[in-house]
Amino acid sequence: MDNNKDIAIIGGGPGGYLAALRAAQLGRKVVLFEEDRIGGTCMNYGCIPTKYLLHQTKILKEVRETKTVTGGEGVGLDWTAVQKGRQAVVDRLVRGIEFLLEKSGAEIVKGRARLEDAGRIVVETADGPETRTAGAVILATGSRAASLPFLAPNGAEVVTSTEALAFAEVPKSLLVIGAGAIGLEMGSIYRRLGTDVTVLEILPGITPGSDKETAARLERALKKQGLKLLTEMSISGAEIAPGKVTLKGTSLKTKAPFEYSAARVLLAAGRRPNSEDLAADGLLTLGRGGFVAVNERLETGTPGVYAIGDLIGGKLLAHKAFHDAIVAVENACGMNRTVDYRALPMAVFTDPEFASVGLTQEEAETKGVKVRSGVFLLQASGRALTMDSLDGLVKVLADGSDRIVGAHIVAPGASEMIHELALAVSREATLGEIGGLIHIHPTLSETIGEAALKAKNEALHILN
Ligand SMILES: Cc1cc2nc3c(=O)[nH]c(=O)nc-3n(C[C@H](O)[C@H](O)[C@H](O)COP(=O)(O)OP(=O)(O)OC[C@H]3O[C@@H](n4cnc5c(N)ncnc54)[C@H](O)[C@@H]3O)c2cc1C
Repeated sequence: MDNNKDIAIIGGGPGGYLAALRAAQLGRKVVLFEEDRIGGTCMNYGCIPTKYLLHQTKILKEVRETKTVTGGEGVGLDWTAVQKGRQAVVDRLVRGIEFLLEKSGAEIVKGRARLEDAGRIVVETADGPETRTAGAVILATGSRAASLPFLAPNGAEVVTSTEALAFAEVPKSLLVIGAGAIGLEMGSIYRRLGTDVTVLEILPGITPGSDKETAARLERALKKQGLKLLTEMSISGAEIAPGKVTLKGTSLKTKAPFEYSAARVLLAAGRRPNSEDLAADGLLTLGRGGFVAVNERLETGTPGVYAIGDLIGGKLLAHKAFHDAIVAVENACGMNRTVDYRALPMAVFTDPEFASVGLTQEEAETKGVKVRSGVFLLQASGRALTMDSLDGLVKVLADGSDRIVGAHIVAPGASEMIHELALAVSREATLGEIGGLIHIHPTLSETIGEAALKAKNEALHILN
C-alpha cells in the first residue's frame, strides 16, 4: 500500500467522490476517506431518497385527483414496498459510484479522518489508526441537520430528514420546522400520504431568500394541497411526551402566542457543517455557523488544503459541491480556477416544482441593478391546460441591456426547465435571444420564451 498520495480527500459525498474521480482523471494518485457510506448525504439520505418518495407519492396523488380516473379514492401505497424500493435505488447508485472509483484507481479508506497537519491525515480504521500523507488535501465532510437550543432529535418524536425518510409507519400528524426545500419536500411527501402536516417558518415567506412573487405563487399552490404553511412563527419551546410533541411560541405577525401538537416533529431549519474536530488547531478558520473559510480558489488558510461543498456554506446543494470539487482539484493540480456561482440553479421538488437561477427581484433592487421582469402565468399555456396544472408562472429578469440576470419558475418540471435560463444567465443571453429561440409546441418551456418577450412588451400569447 502506498501511504503517500498526490491528493487526499476527506468525505465521500458528491463533493468528495467527484473530486476523487476528477483527480484520478488528471492522472493523480488519490485516497478518499469516508466514515459512513460513499455517496454522502445526497445519495444516501438526501437528494435521491427524497426524490424516490416524492415520485411514488406523486403517482398516488395524481391517480386520486385526476377527475376522469374512476375508483381513484380507494388506491393506496404499499409503504413497506416503497421503503424497500427507496433503499434499492440508493444502494444501486452507491454501488455505481464505488465501481467508478475503483476503476479510476482511487483508494477508498473507511474510517473517520482528521487533518493533523498540512498533508498529514490520521484515519481511525476498523483496524486502528493509520497515518497517511498527500501533496494536497481536499476537505469535503458536508453538513448535518441543525438542532434548536430546546429541541434535539431523539429518534422518536423529534427527527431529522434522515429518520423521516424511513418512518416505519406514516405518522398521523407532523410538524415541520422550516419551510425551505427539505421541509417542503418532506411535508409534501407525508401530506400526500394523508398526514396532517403543519410547517412553521420564522421568516415572512416560504423558501426563504427566493424571489417573493414566485415563492408566493408556490405557497398558494401548496396550501391548496392541504399543507398548512405558517410564516413568521417564532418557536421558543417544546414539550415532548411519548408519541406527542408540542411546540410553543409567538406569531411575529399578530404577537399572539401559539401552541401546535403532533405525533412527530421534523427539524428542517438549517444545517450545520461537519467542521468540528476535522483538523488540528490553527489549520482552519471557521466563519459564521462553523463553515470553513476559503477564498475563491477554495483554498483554506493552510497551503495545499482546500475545502468544498456544504462544509464551506453558501447554497447547500449537491451540484454546487460538484462545481467546487472540480475547482479545488484543478487548482490542486496546478491550474488556476475560481468558483462562479452566478448561474447556480436550485430547485424544490414539490408539485408544482420551484426552480430558480441568478438574481431575485429583491436582490437586484438591493444591488441597485435596474431590472425589468416578464411574467407568464401557466393559466395561459396550452400545455399546462392539457396537464390540468395551471398553478404556476415563469418570471424572467433582465438588466438595462436586456441581458437575463435571473429567472424563477413554478411549474411541473421546473427543475428541468430552468437549465435553459441557467445557460442564458451564464452566457449573458438577451431577452430577444431567449424569446426568439424556437421552443417545441406545446411544451411548458414555451412559456420561457413568452416570459422573455413579455419583458420587452412583445409577448404574443398574453396581453402586454
Ligand atoms: C433531505 C435532503 C434532501 C436534499 N435534496 C437535494 C436535492 O434535491 N438537490 C441538491 O442539490 N441537494 C440536495 N440536498 C443537499 C445535498 O445533499 C448536499 O448539498 C450535498 O450532499 C453536499 O455534498 P458534500 O459532498 O458537500 O457533503 P455530504 O454529502 O454531506 O458528504 C460528506 C461526507 O463526508 C463524510 N464525513 C464527514 N466527516 C468525516 C470524517 N471526519 N472522516 C471521513 N468521512 C467524513 C460523511 O459521512 C459524508 O458521507 C438535500 C439534502 C437533504 C438533507
